[in-house]
Amino acid sequence: MDDDAAVAALQALVRIPTVSDRDPANVDVAAFDEALDELERRFPLVHQHLELTRVDTHGLLFRWIGRSDAKPVVMMAHLDVVPVEGQWQYPTFSGKVVDGTIWGRGTLDDKGSLVGICAAVERLLVEGFVPAQDVWLSFGCNEEVSGTSAVLAVEALGARGVQPWFVIDEGGAIASEAFPGVAAPIGVIGVTEKGVTSVELRVEGRGGHASTPAKLGPTARIARAITRLDNSPMPASVPAPTVELFRRMGAHAPLALRPIMQNAGRAKPLLTRALVLAGAEPAAMTRTTFAITTLSGAPALNVIAATAKAGVNIRIMVGDTVTGVLEHVRKAVDDDQVHIDVVEQNEPSPISPMDEAFELIEGTITEIFPDAVPSPYVMMAATDSRFFTAICPRVYRFAPFRMTKAQRESIHSFDEHLGVDAFLDGVRWYRRLIERLPA
Ligand SMILES: [Zn+2]
Repeated sequence: MDDDAAVAALQALVRIPTVSDRDPANVDVAAFDEALDELERRFPLVHQHLELTRVDTHGLLFRWIGRSDAKPVVMMAHLDVVPVEGQWQYPTFSGKVVDGTIWGRGTLDDKGSLVGICAAVERLLVEGFVPAQDVWLSFGCNEEVSGTSAVLAVEALGARGVQPWFVIDEGGAIASEAFPGVAAPIGVIGVTEKGVTSVELRVEGRGGHASTPAKLGPTARIARAITRLDNSPMPASVPAPTVELFRRMGAHAPLALRPIMQNAGRAKPLLTRALVLAGAEPAAMTRTTFAITTLSGAPALNVIAATAKAGVNIRIMVGDTVTGVLEHVRKAVDDDQVHIDVVEQNEPSPISPMDEAFELIEGTITEIFPDAVPSPYVMMAATDSRFFTAICPRVYRFAPFRMTKAQRESIHSFDEHLGVDAFLDGVRWYRRLIERLPA
């Protein structure tokens, strides 16, 4: 498994369009079958030496037996990708290498990690290496559609009494251009993630002919409700991992910003206000957010709606709870004719500690990316690793790849690409992480 073979394996996996879908009828099963076959062809030793359990339709759970099973670790990735979006410079599933860059859907999310982990393990197996601890590889097949494969992997581990010492999954990266004026890349390690909850606001009425409207019909009530909600943000504050992120970035920030960033703990109110004012993205770092997404009223222009609905996608910040947030929605809407139907509910993930396991990840970042500043942070997006918090307090979200702002924005969008050297650094990072596991 030399560098060329690792890159070729990533190209091969990117070429297989493993697009997941909430409706199983829309999933190209043959593509997923092919991806598993391709993995086996490219990583024969992983498949010979590790014990494999199939999970869900195409999820894989490998166990690499170490010298001890006292502190097992789980390395995660997912096989599925999101569909084609936007106009690509190179075809979405080309896997083409142009000027030292691999192009295609999944290079960053999340086949880079999938292939990176496999390549690292394959290399170590060639050398006859035995890890100090059991290493589990958990590869899901429906992460992008909140599918069940990670839940089933957690169940499979739980049934075997496995309590991971730590879990590492996608999430953060070696992010350049992370903060204005901070030149050093930040190795952001997600120590918690927001909880995704969705509700539908619904008003029922008598409907009828549009020529005889009553005041404040269902559609108008829904409009009032969403305006009220939009005008009632949750209180903002800066959670502990964000304080630490600012503290660590502070040393690399422009002189004028240093004092406030390095004293982020004491300057919390000021920092909170600055983030709220700095735009939608920084503001989302400070609180639970509500996005009004879907909207529906009458089926025709001359009909009064019998039912009007608005969908609200809620991202719950660590510190808040589903119950508390629903209470906030009820109070903000302040209208007992507006029903709040909960479509899905997820609490935010607990904050993983910054102890020995975190320090191992951090130390491995410093070793492979000496210019980077490792730091904890709060992830805004959801990952499969949230399910692992049920069996493990230390869940870290970090993919060891250098990513520019443009690259981070290409995830779930168009022109997703990963540098060949960046990918190979990632393979080395995964390898070192395994080699450094303590006895
Ligand atoms: Zn992903």
